[in-house]
Order: sequence, then C-alpha cells, then structure tokens
Amino acid sequence: MNSPIVTIVVPCYNEESVLQETISQLCGLMRGLVDENVVSGQSKILLVDDGSKDQTWKIIYKETINNEYVRGLKLSRNAGHQNALLAGLFTAKEASDCVISIDADLQDDIQVIPEFIRKFNEGCEIVYGVRQKRDLDSFFKRTSATGFYKLMNKMGVNLVYNHADFRLMSKRAIAELERFDETNLFLRGIVPLIGFKTDSVYYDRKERLAGETKYPFKKMVAFALDGITSFSVTPIRLVLWLGCLSFFISLLFGSYFLWLKFYGQTETGWTSLITSIWLIGGLQLIAVGLIGEYIGKIYNESKRRPKYIVDLDLFNPLDLKKREQLDNERNSIEKLSKTN
Ligand code: UDP
Ligand code: MG
Repeated sequence: MNSPIVTIVVPCYNEESVLQETISQLCGLMRGLVDENVVSGQSKILLVDDGSKDQTWKIIYKETINNEYVRGLKLSRNAGHQNALLAGLFTAKEASDCVISIDADLQDDIQVIPEFIRKFNEGCEIVYGVRQKRDLDSFFKRTSATGFYKLMNKMGVNLVYNHADFRLMSKRAIAELERFDETNLFLRGIVPLIGFKTDSVYYDRKERLAGETKYPFKKMVAFALDGITSFSVTPIRLVLWLGCLSFFISLLFGSYFLWLKFYGQTETGWTSLITSIWLIGGLQLIAVGLIGEYIGKIYNESKRRPKYIVDLDLFNPLDLKKREQLDNERNSIEKLSKTN
C-alpha cells in the first residue's frame, strides 16, 4: 500500500512566541515519518493564520518559502479557533488522504501522530486524541472542563470525553463534515455525528510551550454556552419545567393565603411578597435570556454568512496572480532583512 499523504493543520492566533519551536518539532516529526515511509513525501504542515496581530504570519510566510514541508493559509481576519480549523481542513482536503489537526502550543503530544496514522491505515476514518491526565492544567481549567463534558453528556450531547481538537480525519470524513452547513459549528459535537469507523489514541496533556492561552474565562464561557445551545434544547425544556414548578408552588401558596384570610389570621406579608417578586422576576429574566440565546442562533443561521474568508492560500497550487504577489512579498521581505 502507498503511504498516505497527511496534512497537519495548525490554527495559529498570535502565536509568535511558540510558533518557531512548534514548526521545528512538527517538521522533525514529518521528516522522520517521510524517511520511514510512514507518510508520503507530499505530506505537509498547514499553518492557518487566524488574523493574528503579531508576527505570526511573517513567520509562517518565511517558512512557506524556505521549508519544503510548511505551507501557509492566511484568513482575512480573526474568525475564531473553530473556524480557523475548518478553513485548514477544507483547504487541505483535496490534496490529502487524511488531515490531522493540532493546536499551535503543542500541549498535545505529537509523538502519538504515528499511531493516528496506523489506525487510519487500519481503516479508521476518524481518530480522536484523548487526554489521559490533565494534572498540568490549572485546577480551574481542569474542573471547568470536566464539568462541561459531564453537563453536555447529561443533556444528551455525544462528546468524546477529554478530547479537544487533536484528531485525524480522512478525506471522506471531511467531505461529510462539509455537508454540515451550519454557521455555529462546534466541531467536538459535530464530528461524532459523522459516524464511520472511529478510534481513540491516549496521551498526556502537557503545558503550553510558550505564550498565553487564547481562551480566557469570558471566551471559555461563550464557547461552552455555544456548544450547549447548538446541540441541545434541554435548557429550554428546563425553563419550561421550572415555570410549571413555580406555577404549582404559587397555587399552593395562594390557597394557603386564602385559607389564612378566611380564618382571620392574615399576616402583613410584605417579606413573602417582595421575595416572590424577586424570585419570579429573576426566573423570568433567565428564561427570556435563554430563549433569546436560541433565537440569536436562528438569526445567525438564517443570515448564512461565510464562516471564514481566505486572504491568501499558499497551500493549493498557486495561480499566477498569487505567485506574483508571493514574489513581491518575498522581495520586500528580503529588502527588509537587508535594511535591518
Ligand atoms: N486560536 C485561533 N483563533 C482564536 C483563538 C485561538 O486560531 O481566535 C488557536 C490558538 O492559536 C491555538 C488553538 O486555537 O493554536 C487553541 O488555543 P489555546 O491553546 O489558547 O487554547 P487552550 O489550550 O488554552 O484551551
Ligand atoms: Mg492550548
């Protein structure tokens, strides 16, 4: 059997402090795999610049010119981790037998990549990288992540436990993924829906090589909320139940107060009144907010906006105009390095 053409897709957002090291580690691995004939010599590492504001694209660009294994894809602006990943997958699909996605900070162990490919050769269309231990993550990150997986599972969303976006997908699986035409793409929830023969590979999660997490608390909450509301209507159902419950309780209270009134033991009742106003008011606001969240989703879906826009694609065979642009940019980089 011919060895497969593998593309490793790496979304990068402001990763200048870690990227050079990441590239050299991935290239080392790639070179080894090509030498051992595990992967085809046409295999590539595709770095997707997700609208970075630092030197990330410059690094990618230089490597694309100088390094036979590296190619770059530049998005027109920051589209977010999931969309950058999709851009990479869809761009790489045509020229690859399978695509492996991995974060730029190399928290995931690249040494298990040969095992990914072995499973692919055995006929798996999707292989998940699953973290065995996360003791190196902060306590907060660990507990919030575990809580998130548990919550999602409770609500009937089929997530692979402790799997982030380190996975292999075959050309065929990516083609099917392309048919999921929704704007709110939460990949970890969608990929298991594709089906086919799948397997998992286990590894220990490491610390970020350098730089800072691009998922501060606010983004993490938004990510979790997105994941939940994109996949499950359980929260809305919960609101309905809560409404029924509070209606039932108010009936009970109402009859109790009526009984008190008729038998002459009326209380001043200010406390209970004001408490229930706040309680019901709060519940109503939560309910409205939650429903709003879903309506917002529908609104976004109905607009059918593109998930990402490509500025420059240095992966697929360059057309003349792009080649010209590349030459111009190369010249200006050379000029720059001479003046510096
Ligand atoms: N990332 C991206 N666009 C964004 C945010 C993040 O492409 O808007 C990339 C980032 O460069 C990294 C990956 O997504 O390669 C995961 O981000 P990070 O490591 O900061 O997340 P964490 O591991 O802390 O959850
Ligand atoms: Mg990370």
